[in-house]
Amino acid sequence: MEKYNYPGLLARNTGSPGALNFLLSKYKECRQEHVQCGLRDLPNPFYPSRIIDVGEMDDENVCLRTTDTFDDEGPYFCLSHCWGEMQPYVLTKETEPMLRRGLPVGTLPKTFRDAIVVTRKSQVRYLWIDSLCIFQDDVDDWSTEASHMRDVYGQAACTIAATAAKNSDEGLFFERTPELLGPREIRATWTPTVAGLFWCDRETIWTDGVERAPLSSRAWVAQERHLSSRTMHFGATQLFWECHQCKASECYPTGLPNWALPFWSEDGSTLKSDIRHIRQRTANLPSNSFDTKDSPLVQSEAMHPTELYHSWGVFRISYSMCDMTKEEDKLVAIQGIAKGM
Ligand SMILES: [Zn+2]
Repeated sequence: MEKYNYPGLLARNTGSPGALNFLLSKYKECRQEHVQCGLRDLPNPFYPSRIIDVGEMDDENVCLRTTDTFDDEGPYFCLSHCWGEMQPYVLTKETEPMLRRGLPVGTLPKTFRDAIVVTRKSQVRYLWIDSLCIFQDDVDDWSTEASHMRDVYGQAACTIAATAAKNSDEGLFFERTPELLGPREIRATWTPTVAGLFWCDRETIWTDGVERAPLSSRAWVAQERHLSSRTMHFGATQLFWECHQCKASECYPTGLPNWALPFWSEDGSTLKSDIRHIRQRTANLPSNSFDTKDSPLVQSEAMHPTELYHSWGVFRISYSMCDMTKEEDKLVAIQGIAKGM
């Protein structure tokens, strides 16, 4: 097990300093060492039109800022969350003045409060939350901002995914039984050929913790996850890290073994890497490079257009199984992915 750096027994709460340090160190490692992930950290003129300023660690208030007159376009995080039955605190014409003046953190739903803690601990000052950064009583504003969602998530330094929370009151952190997590040592004596010491673990670690979690059934999340370069998944029993170069968990901090990842991803995450490869490969190629099978793009690597089409097909199937509260959201929620094609 040495190669996985299995950490031993985890803390009893997923919000413990040890658990959060796992994500903070992955974030730091990704930004400093991952070549693939670093390619997206290029200067880009896009910045969300509104953002939540989370201030410093012990500040009591957070406030809404409009960024058109902003001179500090520092890195920002996004929150990906289930709204649930109860509507979370939202930006409206009525709440706007209060949000601009500064709102006590304690008045916000638990998921928002926890996301503010994670953002501050990551030494990032700004956080984008859909319900607080898009007017919920203005259809035009919603249409405009929703059409920018691809850039909002695509340009975020990291996405905080409230993976296990069914609504905005459940938060990011959960109690757990650490004795039930991680590999078990088994001494086998069944046959002469199957004998010795084995390490055993569930092969559905990622599927159970991320793909089948409450957040993954939400249709918008299909787009949010695909567009984000880095995601911190706050699962019910452990925390997971996902970026272009690494999928890891607290039990497997240096990267989940291949057997612990689904051989085909239920959310079509292969599509994510395919789109990324295309972007990288088309960066210096003429716009018609993908037109024919003889094009330099198709010939440049092993990926064939049918593979990309297959990934897109897998994504559409999983997307169509997601919940969508408003029927009219369906095309808007998928257009960011379609644009990436
Ligand atoms: Zn990375």
